[in-house]
Amino acid sequence: MSQQFILDIEFILKAIEEKNGKSANEEYNKILNFLTDTESAWITSASVPLLKLLYEKKNSSDGDFLFRILNQLRIVKTPAYLTLSENQSWSDLHFQIMELAAKLIDAKILSANPEYLKSNGLVIAPEAVLGFESPRQIPFVDLKTQYRNLNREIDRAIDSTIARTAFIGGSSNVDIKEFEEKFSNYLGIKHCVSCANGTDSLEILLRSFGIGPEDEVIVPALSWISTSEAVSSMGAKPVFVDIEENHFTIDTNLIEKKITNRTKAIIPVHLYGHPADMGPILKLARKYNLYVIEDCAQAHGAEYEGQLVGTIGDAGSFSLFPGKNLGAYGDAGCIVTKDDEIASKARMIANHGQLEKHNHVLEGRNSRMDGIQASILNVKLPRLKEWTEDRRTNAKTYHEKLKNLDLLLPKEAKNVKHVYHLFVIRSAKRSQLQSALKKGGVETSIHYPTPLPFLNAYKQEGYTKLDFPVAAECCEEILSLPMFPELRLLDIEFISNIIKKELS
Ligand SMILES: *Cc1c(COP(=O)(O)O)cnc(C)c1O
Repeated sequence: MSQQFILDIEFILKAIEEKNGKSANEEYNKILNFLTDTESAWITSASVPLLKLLYEKKNSSDGDFLFRILNQLRIVKTPAYLTLSENQSWSDLHFQIMELAAKLIDAKILSANPEYLKSNGLVIAPEAVLGFESPRQIPFVDLKTQYRNLNREIDRAIDSTIARTAFIGGSSNVDIKEFEEKFSNYLGIKHCVSCANGTDSLEILLRSFGIGPEDEVIVPALSWISTSEAVSSMGAKPVFVDIEENHFTIDTNLIEKKITNRTKAIIPVHLYGHPADMGPILKLARKYNLYVIEDCAQAHGAEYEGQLVGTIGDAGSFSLFPGKNLGAYGDAGCIVTKDDEIASKARMIANHGQLEKHNHVLEGRNSRMDGIQASILNVKLPRLKEWTEDRRTNAKTYHEKLKNLDLLLPKEAKNVKHVYHLFVIRSAKRSQLQSALKKGGVETSIHYPTPLPFLNAYKQEGYTKLDFPVAAECCEEILSLPMFPELRLLDIEFISNIIKKELS
């Protein structure tokens, strides 16, 4: 991400003076142009009227110029949590406003005020801006840049929810309704039922399909624990199946052997954003009369043979956790299905078994999506397609920059569209790569260090590496590189160069 700056009013006024010929040099004007050209100039909303007042006091001419400048600046809200104390000066207060706003969008403050300059590492002198380079830090996921790009709409959505006190989700909450409608339209499926998170969505679905004690459910050996945890929480038994090493998804050749007369469902996971091989899974499901519940937590918008994931099996489960491809600002999740009965059961279960208020048809649970989360998701959902394309472009760039090296890059099967929730490479020198990247300021991660069956939670089952050899081997070598829509070409080049250097 490029460095952003909150401009001190004094700086803007000086730039205007230069422009009006009241000052001999052009320096501030040049800096201001540079910042507006690179879209990195911000002011706090508090300084907008102040700027106009001061400007009118100093100048009678060229009001257009100020307006033009204001139009090129990005505006960040002025937080309400200011400390107003007796021993604080007006200047302190002015600085405090800028400081709080700067923290919100991860910006520096641009000011020539010597007091501010020495008070705090957050402040940069105007002269220093042109050559300014912040130390390169590439996060694994960058939610700050995304917020900065959408700050006006997101702030408006949150404030509006607060103003209406529309906090709790339910079918009468307009933000929830809008999200469910928008998301089911996006997938082209009849029902979307919102809930509190992507683990609950799996549990609620399993319960809606009547899965309980004595039942078995087939799950892949490599996933986030929610996939198997949800099965166990129903009192049922998760039956693990090894993955296939090309795409890290469930190996469909190994499923049939694990099917017993207790097996009720299969949960394929579209891991890292790559769809599981649904064709063979659906065939087995038909043959043995099993439900197919897709775990789409990492794969919003991914496609298998032209069909969006979540719409292929009997139902789809989505997580809307902040770091997922579509993420709220807290926990959230949803269920999608074309089945009317499953949708209405799921809706009841997620809201204390009620279809309408005080009519508890069964004992459900409290798993509603928050109103604030829905309003944020409504701002973000229209961008999902564009973000997915950006992820795919970034993956392509990684492929170009990392080709012909001694490592394995993610593969995309011919009949799918991968949405690159994660960009996972495989290398025997994983820990060497990871520490070199860390030294260079690049954050990486491992998804996941341990296959599910080998977690302590399943110790009692006594699984060994021989039971899941592919998952066991992959987990020794996989490394997730930074991947998010806002990742820049030069970041990918930087990351790739570190890897190249380590492997040559
Ligand atoms: C994130 C995730 C979940 C769980 O979602 P939460 O919203 O965090 O509960 C389930 N399955 C997979 C594969 C995930 O990645």
